[in-house]
Formats: sequence, structure tokens, C-alpha cells
Amino acid sequence: MDNRSTHRIRAGWLIDGSGGPILKDRVISVESGMISDISTASEVRPGSGPVTDLSRCVILPVLVDSHVHLCMSGSVDPILRSGQLRAGYDALAPVIAEHLRHHFSHGVLAVRDGGDRLGSVLRYLQERQGRSENPVIVKSPGSAFHQDGRYGSLIGAPPRPGESLLQAWHTRPNRTDLVKIVNSGLNSMTRFGAQSPPQFTGSELGELVAEAKRCGCRVMVHANGRLPVQEAVQAGCDSIEHGFFMDRDTLDMMAEAGIFWVPTVYTMKAYAQHAGVCSAEIDPKVAEKNLQSQLQQLAYARDRGVEVALGTDSGSIGVLHGESMVEEMKLFMQAGYSLSEVIRCASEQGARLLGLQELGAIGVGKPAHFLVARGTPAQLPRKLSYLEAIYLNGLPSPLYRRDPDYTTLRAYEGVDFGGKVRY
Ligand SMILES: [Zn+2]
Repeated sequence: MDNRSTHRIRAGWLIDGSGGPILKDRVISVESGMISDISTASEVRPGSGPVTDLSRCVILPVLVDSHVHLCMSGSVDPILRSGQLRAGYDALAPVIAEHLRHHFSHGVLAVRDGGDRLGSVLRYLQERQGRSENPVIVKSPGSAFHQDGRYGSLIGAPPRPGESLLQAWHTRPNRTDLVKIVNSGLNSMTRFGAQSPPQFTGSELGELVAEAKRCGCRVMVHANGRLPVQEAVQAGCDSIEHGFFMDRDTLDMMAEAGIFWVPTVYTMKAYAQHAGVCSAEIDPKVAEKNLQSQLQQLAYARDRGVEVALGTDSGSIGVLHGESMVEEMKLFMQAGYSLSEVIRCASEQGARLLGLQELGAIGVGKPAHFLVARGTPAQLPRKLSYLEAIYLNGLPSPLYRRDPDYTTLRAYEGVDFGGKVRY
């Protein structure tokens, strides 16, 4: 089909990513790869150009995973995990490529990386720039900043002795428009609700955030517990990552300030499920309680209108790239989000958080990118793991190849998923 001509696509159901009601029987008109009109099927004149009939399908926006670690697999095998944590760039490059394929095959067209020790994701993107077929947009901060001697060495590095956080950012050779700060520890997996102190002072964080914003950069902060999160919120960061045990008053502050929260809920379910296999230091009962506490926070955030974006923390134990989107969505729905609301968190909200105007909700004037799931909305989010098609600029992407047994990525052999640089 000529990409420049107008054609129409009839959808049985449209979930547009705005969070509003699911629309039935809609016709999307596409002109030169852009959406020019969306009407009810009865409004469309018959005989005015070709129509692709997807009336037995749901159309929904392409997805954004706002928190991943492309250098880490979600494997529960401790030997493989420790190997990946120590691996150099040459070993990690094919791992990154495979994870990008997994994201694409689940309809995830943009990811925000949470950082890696050596900045390998950034190097990968730079080396593959312009020579790859990968349509997944990657935002990477390079490596994160953490305080010397505190949690974070797996995903970042500390400022040098005597250097402030701001100086460390200024002197970093490979800067992008995304900064990642680690401002607390991990959640305790043996003591429920135990909190760790902030890693940086409020003034250090504030100084960095102000300068980053002046330069048009965004700041994501790993923070669990009241003090580490409140400090980051007061500093004016763009998003709180994880945010376990931050409490309701902190969520009120975030609602007021319009700061995004990426709650990475599924990580705790995966810890609870895999505790015995991967580490003796995980008490599955504590992981389960952490999960329930986070679901309560999420329900409260929904009521208060906190800006929530969906991120999986893929690469964490048992959290697989691509397919974990469905698991995270199910937990959002357990916390009270409707299907339409959770799709908004995984599309429009993610696109806003990553600053990607071309993605997000489906609407007139936007590029005609969307996912096609066979069946009715009742089969979502499960069907995201078995998509019918991925439309990019109004046409089914030839890169999306349904694998008949859905167990391997054989279908993608020979496709270079090198990476599309966006930073
Ligand atoms: Zn993370």
C-alpha cells in the first residue's frame, strides 16, 4: 500500500490511551502515515477508499516501559545473574539486543533504562546509531550516581572523593538528557518496612536537579522510604522510581507537585515467587507484604491523581523484558485501575515522562503507531503477549513476526536490533 495515500482501518474496539472509556467500532483514517480522523463506523461513507477490517480486534497505543535494565536478564539463575553483573561490553551487547527484541515483540516501542555499571547501554546505542532496524526508542542515563559505600554499584558509580553530585555530572564524559540518582537502599527482604537513610543531602540533589533542568535534562531518582523520597520530591526531580514505603503524605506531595511515580510493583511478586531459587536472603513472606503495601500505595495514588507511569524494572530477579508489562498491568488492575487507565499509564504517561511526543495516546495529528490484539478487551492485557500486528506509520511493521509457538525468538533471526539512539 502506498504510504502517502489515505486508507482506513476499522477497529472492533479502540483503547486510545487517554484513560477514558473503551470505544466500540471506530474507523481510523491514515494519511501519509499520520492519523487524520477517527470516527464511529456508522459515520464513515461507504466506498471512500480501502478499509482494513480489524473489527474482531482491539487497537491500542504502542507501549512504553518507563523502567528497565537492558544489561540484565530477568533470570533467576544466580550464576547467570552474577556473570551478567560482572560482564564487559562485548558480552553484554548481544544481551541488550535480545532484550530489545523481547520488548518489540510485546509491543513496547520505547524504554527508559535505569542505568548500568559501565554505561554499556549507551555505548551500544552509540555504536549502532544509524545501522540498525530496531524501532524501539531507548532513553539511557549511562551509569547512575550513588554515594560511595552505599547501594548502587551494580548500576552506577559514586562521585570521586571531594566531588559534589553536580561536579560529578559536569565532569562525566558521556552525558545524555537523562540523569539517574540512587538516593536510598534496596528494600529489605528480611525486615518488613525497614527504611534506609538518603544517600545525598537535599541541597546536593536540589543543586543537580536545578542545573539539569536548566540544560533540558530530566532526573529520575531511585528512592524507597519517606525521607529519601521526600528529599527527591523537594529537589524537584522528574520521577520517583520504586517509592516503596513512602507513605500517603509523600504521595500527596507528589500529586501536588505533578511528579511522576514508577512503582515497579511486579518486582516484589517475582521476589516472592522465586525466593527459594535465587537467594537465601529473601524471605518470601516479607516480599509478599512489600507487594501488598505497594498495592495499597498505588490505590491511594490513583485516588489522589498522582502522575503514575508504568515501569517493570525488567532485569530484576524473575522480571523478564517485554512480557513483564502484562504482569505489571495486572497488578495495577488489582490496585483498582481499569484496563483503560492502566493502558494510559503504559503509553501516554510513559511518553510524557520520556518526552516522546510521537508516542502516547492515539489521536488525530499523531503518527499512526498502534498495536492490534485479536479478540475483545476482556482478553487484555494477556493478549499483549500474542499480538496480531504492530502498526508503525499506518502500516503493519514487517519486523513483527509472530512466532508460531511463542517460545523462541527464532522469528527475528537475521534482524539487526542494534538500537535507535534517542538521548
Ligand atoms: Zn531499576
